[in-house]
Amino acid sequence: MDQNPPFPSPEELRSKLSEFMKSNFGDKVSFATFAQPDTAEAGDEEKPANTGDEEFAFNFLPRDIKAHLDRFVIKQDEAKKVLSIAVCDHYNHVNFLRRLEKEDAARAEETEYAKQNVILVGPTGVGKTYLIKHIAELIKVPFVKADATKFSETGYVGGDVEDLVRELVQKADGDVALAQFGIIYIDEIDKIAAANNIGGRDVSGRGVQTTLLKLMEETDVPLRSANDLQSQLQAAFEFQRRGSKAKREAISTRHILFVVSGAFERLKEQVSRRMAQGQIGFNAEPRQVLDNELFQHVRTQDFIEYGFEPEFIGRLPVRVVCEELRADDLYKIMKFSEGSILRQYERAFRAYGIEISFEDEALRLIAEEAAKEKTGARGLLTVWEKLFRDYKYHLAGSGLTQLRVSSELVREPKRVLERLMAEGERQEEAALMQSALVFTEQFKSQHGLQITFDESATGRLVERAHAERMTMPELCAHLFKDYQFGLSLVKKNTGQTSFMLNAEAVDAPDKFLSDLVVRSHYPLAPAENH
Ligand code: ADP
Repeated sequence: MDQNPPFPSPEELRSKLSEFMKSNFGDKVSFATFAQPDTAEAGDEEKPANTGDEEFAFNFLPRDIKAHLDRFVIKQDEAKKVLSIAVCDHYNHVNFLRRLEKEDAARAEETEYAKQNVILVGPTGVGKTYLIKHIAELIKVPFVKADATKFSETGYVGGDVEDLVRELVQKADGDVALAQFGIIYIDEIDKIAAANNIGGRDVSGRGVQTTLLKLMEETDVPLRSANDLQSQLQAAFEFQRRGSKAKREAISTRHILFVVSGAFERLKEQVSRRMAQGQIGFNAEPRQVLDNELFQHVRTQDFIEYGFEPEFIGRLPVRVVCEELRADDLYKIMKFSEGSILRQYERAFRAYGIEISFEDEALRLIAEEAAKEKTGARGLLTVWEKLFRDYKYHLAGSGLTQLRVSSELVREPKRVLERLMAEGERQEEAALMQSALVFTEQFKSQHGLQITFDESATGRLVERAHAERMTMPELCAHLFKDYQFGLSLVKKNTGQTSFMLNAEAVDAPDKFLSDLVVRSHYPLAPAENH
């Protein structure tokens, strides 16, 4: 038999296999690339095993976390409190286990603990993600967000869910130890509630729940994805090179905190209905919103009826509602949140040399507009973008330096913009005239000659500065570059030290000057007659 051809490089192999897979399976197989903290090039030295190392330290009180959240997140007090406690409990327990592992590994293994995974219930745009993001930032752990719907749509539930864990490693810049203390946030979890009808259960929703459950319990996720051929090949090469020394790296999900969220639209009806049936003497109309008051009456059974597996819901013991945001809350978000969109617009306009400021009444009107969008604080983005699009376009470079956002501006943006643009032009004109004056003053102090522009000259100078996109000092220096010599000559001939320049001087400066000089030589004969 012939000698085998030389084995291709990982890159060649990857591209060949990639083509083959694509032509056979379409887009179902992807070549995800994840940070590879320990690639084949990493040399022969063993990296320290990535079990929880000393670097991650947790040292917060619930009230510290809440205070931090208060700086950014408006309202949602109950959620802030509950999350602060859950996060502290979780990471304090992690600290405890890590200490115990060193003293008595067997006891650490046996210690029972119900992880403080969280269900955040609430409509879109009310700060659910924002809360988790700021917690992760404060305590310096990586944070990954995904939509649960993504898992049920693809055929690779397990792989996709595990990718989330691998993404934590990426977010932690390849630090597997830190990734193991990360937070995974899964939105739209209510969309994977199995349809609980008689005809049978929604298998995909249930499948996703089971897969997620495995992660939430405790499992080891390989650092290299089974769907990612490049990673697999790298692993194979490493094995070839290092034989049994090559180690299988994995991320343990034991200390990863899971937060799931969703709007759970039907939940409020479910609970209102049950309560209206008189069990707790509650006979009001079905509630329109699910607030924390109503949520107190939500039981585990309600989530099961909603379409969740008891085991799944059982792994999510911390439950809290993020409440709807009303116009007044949106006003407070703009006014008081450190992450307010207002700051973003201040920066954007400042970049164009415009200081923007806001009247409270204007912010109130914007808040009311945004509340109509019914997308929580996201409505603010929409309203602001629409309101200020034309302002940014037309006012940038218009000469305007101040923009006061009044209620009139919010009510009649078009009209106010037109007025401001006209004003901007006037302001720019005034500024140009002023700098023409500065030119004449400098000319006088440098050469002892007084130039004065008459009205027609000033008008033409402003026009030309505009048309030729020059600053006034540049334009004057260019037009009148020979004037110091010419006018000095005139002064020598006639003693004249003061000169009035008109539009002709601006349009044909050299001719104007030479006429002056000629006249000064022949004072009695007008230059034109020569
Ligand atoms: P969701 O509840 O759908 O996860 P987000 O947290 O992503 O909504 O909110 C979108 C954006 O709206 C945030 O990035 C933040 O700027 C703003 N926002 C939402 N809720 C609040 C809030 N309660 N306080 C301050 N800003 C908020």
